[in-house]
Amino acid sequence: MLNLNCRGIRVSPTCPLCSCRDETTLHALWGCRRLKEVTSTLPIDRAKIGGEGMLFFDFILGCLGCLDLAEICLLCVVFWKNWYDENQKVKDLNTVTAVNDVVGWSRIYISDFQDSKHPQAIESNQQRVGTVIWKPLKLGMYKINTDATINQMCKKVGFGIVIQNTTGFVMACSSQCICATFSPQVAEVEAILRGLQFARDSELLPATIESDVVVVVKWINEKSNIRADVGLILDDILSLINSMA
Ligand SMILES: [Zn+2]
Repeated sequence: MLNLNCRGIRVSPTCPLCSCRDETTLHALWGCRRLKEVTSTLPIDRAKIGGEGMLFFDFILGCLGCLDLAEICLLCVVFWKNWYDENQKVKDLNTVTAVNDVVGWSRIYISDFQDSKHPQAIESNQQRVGTVIWKPLKLGMYKINTDATINQMCKKVGFGIVIQNTTGFVMACSSQCICATFSPQVAEVEAILRGLQFARDSELLPATIESDVVVVVKWINEKSNIRADVGLILDDILSLINSMA
């Protein structure tokens, strides 16, 4: 708030959470008394790294001089998590970690990150992803790319469709928004159905469809008989593909 105020934006520089001091960067991430529960559980001696009256940059320099690498990592992730949680509160989202869990959450985050960088993890990830061989489209074919996005707060689902020819030239595109509360899988399947309908209506056929959701592609290729909500849309997709053949 203090930074915004200094840049001429008319907001109160006072911390809106404790109303005790100006909300500097260091106050928001470290000094505010509502964070005492977080910072007091850190295995870091507060007296060693200085108080709130410093510039954030000087504070970090001081930390680099007296903390080891693991402590610096933990401190940075706690900063980042505090910042993220504050933004979630401003947006009124219900995904904020309980204050006494922030340090534990940060430790798990660091551990997961380090595990993912381990040579064995990298190797297994590479095996999972496999080798993707790019193949150009056959002459006269079109490629339909689809994607879906969900806004749970507004209960809306958005669809994006792009159809390209063999040279990559965009022949048609569409963005659509509907009021719905779909699961991610239903939204992706619905996007594919809409992509196929769009290609048919635009007479851009024959076409191949591309989706980044492997399981959906598998269901379509295997003509899976699924009875859940996804199944109804899959039936529509399969009958549309049959009618185009
Ligand atoms: Zn405060």
